[in-house]
Parts: sequence; C-alpha cells; structure tokens
Amino acid sequence: MPSILIRSRGVIDHHGDLIGDSLLVEDEVVRGLGKAPGYVTEIRLDGYILPGFVDAHLHVKGLGTSLYGADLRWARSPEEVAERLAAVKGPLAVGRGWDQEAFENPKLPDRRLLDKYVPDRPAVAIRVCGHLAVLNTRALEEVEPWRLYPSHVDRESGILVEDAVYYAVNKLLDKLDNKELVKLGLESLHSAGVVGASSMACSDSEIKSLYSIARSSGLPVRIACYANKENYKSHLGLEAPRFKVVGVKLFSDGSFGARTAALRDDYEDDSGNRGRLLLTSRDIAEIGSYALKAGYRIAVHAIGDRALDEVIEAYNRISPGAKGRVEHASMAWDSQVEELASLGVYVVVQPRFRVSDWWLAQRLGGRVGLAYRFKTMLDRGVRLALSTDAPVEDHRPWSTMLAAIGDCGARRCGIGEDLSPRDAIRLYTIEAARASGGPVAALGRIEPGAPGELAWSPGDPRERGWKGPVRPLDLAR
Ligand SMILES: [Zn+2]
Repeated sequence: MPSILIRSRGVIDHHGDLIGDSLLVEDEVVRGLGKAPGYVTEIRLDGYILPGFVDAHLHVKGLGTSLYGADLRWARSPEEVAERLAAVKGPLAVGRGWDQEAFENPKLPDRRLLDKYVPDRPAVAIRVCGHLAVLNTRALEEVEPWRLYPSHVDRESGILVEDAVYYAVNKLLDKLDNKELVKLGLESLHSAGVVGASSMACSDSEIKSLYSIARSSGLPVRIACYANKENYKSHLGLEAPRFKVVGVKLFSDGSFGARTAALRDDYEDDSGNRGRLLLTSRDIAEIGSYALKAGYRIAVHAIGDRALDEVIEAYNRISPGAKGRVEHASMAWDSQVEELASLGVYVVVQPRFRVSDWWLAQRLGGRVGLAYRFKTMLDRGVRLALSTDAPVEDHRPWSTMLAAIGDCGARRCGIGEDLSPRDAIRLYTIEAARASGGPVAALGRIEPGAPGELAWSPGDPRERGWKGPVRPLDLAR
C-alpha cells in the first residue's frame, strides 16, 4: 500500500490530545503527522481521526447471537419478553437483555409462559446480565442442564443461573451456524470503529470459529481470546493472524441483578442472601499459577466485595502483575482499591453499568457509594481499562464514552464516578489494548510505528453531548 496523507479537522491521540490535523500512514503503519516527501494519495475526512477503540471485555459470539436473536432490553413485562422471542425465526428462539426491574410488575418470566408463546421449538430468554436465563420445556428437555448443574436449575420455573446458563445456551446455540454468529459480531464491531477486543470466556465453538475465520477470510478486528475454566488447557496459545488465545477467564461470582454477586453482608432487599461465591482464592490461585507459568494471562470476574476479597487474596499469592485482570470490580472498599493498585493488576470496567444498574441502591443500600469508583481507582494508581461487556451493553464506543464522562442522557448516570474525557479515551484505547494482550496489545495508539488501524468520528469525542458515531478508517480495504 502506498503512503496516504489523511487530512481532517483534527487528530486526537491516545492521550486524548489534539496533536495536529493530518496524519501520514504508509504500508498500514502510522508514520507521523503532516506531510512527508513522496506521499501518493490524499484523503479528506470531515471529522476527527482517532486511535481505533479497543474493547477490553466483550463476547464476540454473544454479540453476534444477540444481533441475530431478539433484543429484549427494556421489555415491560414477561409477556413482552415472550412475544419478542416468538418473533425470532429459525430452529431456536433466542433473545437477550430483559431486566425484571424494568417490568411494571417485577415477576420473572417462566417456562410455562415461554411454552405458550413458543410451543414448537426450543426457546431461551437470557437476562441482561447473562447470569440468569429462562428456558421453555423443549429447551430444558433437550439440554437437561440439571444433570450437570443440579443446584443452578429450577426445573419447575425453567430458570437457570450461572454455570448452567453458560452450558445450556452454548448447547442450544449448536442449532445455529456458530461461525456466522461470530462473523456477525466481528463485523458489527468493525463498523463501529472498534479495532481490537478481548473476547471473554470463549466456548470451544467460538474459539474454533475465530480461528477458522482468521485463517480464511481474515478477522476485521483483532481478538485476544480468554478461554474458560473447562477448556483453557486445550486452547491456551492457539493462534492465527490477528488472533490468539492469551489467557483464561474465571467467574468468582454472579451479578447484582440476579442477586448472585457475592457480598460481605446481606443484600439490602433480600436479607439472609449474600450471593454466591463460585470460586475460592485457592481455586483462582491454582488455575492462575498454571496459566502464568505457561506465559499466559488470568482474568477473574468479581462483582461483589466478597468476590473481590477472594480474587485479591489469590493474586497476592501468585503476583500476576499486569498479566492479572479483575473484571468489573463493581464494588470496592478503599482498602480493596489500595490492594488492587499495589498488585499492579488491570481492572477492566464497564461505564454503561452506571446506566443499566439504576436500581442498585435497592440491592446495596448505603453501600451503593462503593459502586463503579472509576475516578478513585485511577487517582490511587489502579491500572484501569474500559469495555462494554457486549452484548450486556451496547458495543458502540460512543455510548460507553458518554457513560464514562457522566453524560448518560435521559436515563442518567445515577451511580458511580465520572472520568475526564482525556482519561476515558486513554483507558478505552491504549490501556484497553495493554490489558487485552496478544495481537491486540499494539493497538489503540497514534504514534509513529503504530498499526494504521484507526477510526474517525464527525464530532469530537471529548465533548459532552457527542453522539458519535465512530467509523473505521479502512485504509487497506
Ligand atoms: Zn462479560
């Protein structure tokens, strides 16, 4: 590829600084600002050049599945969930995104209701958090999740939680073409100006699909894959162009929404319930040290403060440094923030949770002030990276940028702390790339020698009220 001079309203780098108005890219590598002798092509952009965004935590196949299936977000009743699900064509009625807190009457959908709307094929309605799902009778009978996860399945209501959800959904998705779902996820990321991502807790079929796409048509987005507890030993290190299985992802607890996040004290709205601890520090340290010794990374989901205690204890034992990650760290006491900073691990957070968890004070009472402490963490020296957790949240960078800076529109950022626009850009580009590792590590920057995988936006993402969109700067295509 010849050298290309891109002229624009401004070039914003990974520090969030305006560094010039034109950029020279040669052989898909950033050469520097301004003109150089011998450039061949000139492009004029009516907007700002940005480093491509990097999403440090999402689920590629999950994103594709939710784009394929029904969008259940903001459904106002269990009947509306079932109705939207029934509209999905094909051998599996799948949908995601319902939240009983948005229902007029906070009753959960159940098996019988889904049977009424989808009697003839398996149906599954996944809660917004991904930690709870409802199956109809056909789906339950096909998958028989109670055989492996008896304590995570209520056969009467058809409600599954935690490991049982992951298992049942992946089994049901075998009815669809998984490679097509993965492609759908990748293309939607690419067209939103995302150039790289960590795909978390990848199933076998997701890893196989990514690997095969990477080796045939090529990945439009670089992917660092984190395998799950069941399959990491057989996949760690697998690589293809722009793709690598770089580590393992574990779940130490569930979610606030499903009241399965592990808390030190009872839920404010469910006395006697402190959530579910899924792993102890011993389990985490054992798997973590295996991964680290082999040169890979470890990422652990921890939403509640008790889960975070276990992860911190494990990390104190195995000292992963920047190869260790905590996913979410949704509530953290001062002493936990200090520990995270001194461990030097990455904390990968999701600004949009501030909007989606608008009901969090009901669950946590006064402890809601411990939620989403982005600014505090950053100020105390925690390595922070931003992400969407798509399909849990919108994969498009502008909605996460706005939530990070506290500009959440009509639904408001009710909880959590704001970041400055400059910090948000840095954590959503270069820091997210570093937290991801593998082929993604080099992305998210604008400096000489950086990959020319860039994005642009008609508006300035550092301004409040910015409404995106972000587009890929496709120089090679
Ligand atoms: Zn996730």
